[in-house]
Amino acid sequence: MKVLMRILALLFAAMMAAGAAAQQDLHRSVVLITADGLRWQEIFRGADPAFFGREETGMKDARDVARRFGGASAAERRAKLLPFFWNELVKIGSLYGNRDKGSEVVVRNRHRFSYPGYSEILTGRPRDDLIDSNDNRPNPSFTVLEIVRKELGLAREQVALFGSWETFSGIGAHEPGSVFINAGYTSLELAGASARLIELSRDQFSLLTPWRTVRHDYTTFELALEYLRTRKPRLLYIALGETDDWAHAKRYDRYLEMIHYFDGCVGRIWRAIQQMPEYRDRTLLVAATDHGRGSKIKNWDRHGADVRGAQYIWLAVAGAGLAAGGEAGEGSRLTQSDIAPTILEWMGIPYTKLEGVAGRPLPAIAAGKSR
Ligand SMILES: [Zn+2]
Repeated sequence: MKVLMRILALLFAAMMAAGAAAQQDLHRSVVLITADGLRWQEIFRGADPAFFGREETGMKDARDVARRFGGASAAERRAKLLPFFWNELVKIGSLYGNRDKGSEVVVRNRHRFSYPGYSEILTGRPRDDLIDSNDNRPNPSFTVLEIVRKELGLAREQVALFGSWETFSGIGAHEPGSVFINAGYTSLELAGASARLIELSRDQFSLLTPWRTVRHDYTTFELALEYLRTRKPRLLYIALGETDDWAHAKRYDRYLEMIHYFDGCVGRIWRAIQQMPEYRDRTLLVAATDHGRGSKIKNWDRHGADVRGAQYIWLAVAGAGLAAGGEAGEGSRLTQSDIAPTILEWMGIPYTKLEGVAGRPLPAIAAGKSR
């Protein structure tokens, strides 16, 4: 009898565990969205008024932009530049990396440019030895996208990446083709695509940017949003790129406008999540960047190992059941390597599945999970 009771108890425990795992499986999704080379300074201070009217920032002929994003205080300017971040996201999520308040987010890789940064975001570790260029090659490590697909046994299209920069076809996966990726000026290869997806895919080739390897963020974002609505992926990564390209072109006016556009995209994706029962109350939203830039008028356009301050970035997260920490302050220390572990922790997958992981899940995620 005792033995029978023990067997029953064990069976019951196993059923409960399986049930909890299945429920977690059903309940968890992630949307990751990045803006290339978007400085922490603009996120937390808004547009820099010292740049207004200056020829070397492209602001000489852009007085209307200065008017739109100007203001007497940093609080006023940042709310104009990023209205979703500062009117809504700050109330429902957490924003890290305001160095003026003692909060810091840094890249661990020493390169401070794009491939190393995105790889660190997607693999939870720097690989300075292997990744030292922006050449379009498969990622030397398995990415969080591949790990989520494998661990949850998902179909390929259930883990998707849309990128403005063509090199995401390499960065996104160690095994090419293992997850769904559409990046740069590339036709969407998708059976049964909606009319909207087909139209966006076709029109991208008529809407050229000044760059051969980066298509418009508009195309990337609209494709991703329509994909979310019609395909319901469990993990969606939207990688926007124009902020960095306009900065390199020394066009602070366009850089500001693309930041404002990015803020609108984050708001739209959040609202889309809230409108769909498949995502509402079970989706983690993560917004991030691949690297910082110089802090001065003479080097704000640049980044890289030799640019002081380009290692400092920012990070924003929001999700149902997560404490809304608002703007992080003194003592908050995070790294770019923490993003992939955070995504896995949210999905109920041990973050140590990331080979050689250097980062850790955000404490808020770990705490939220145990509730
Ligand atoms: Zn760049």
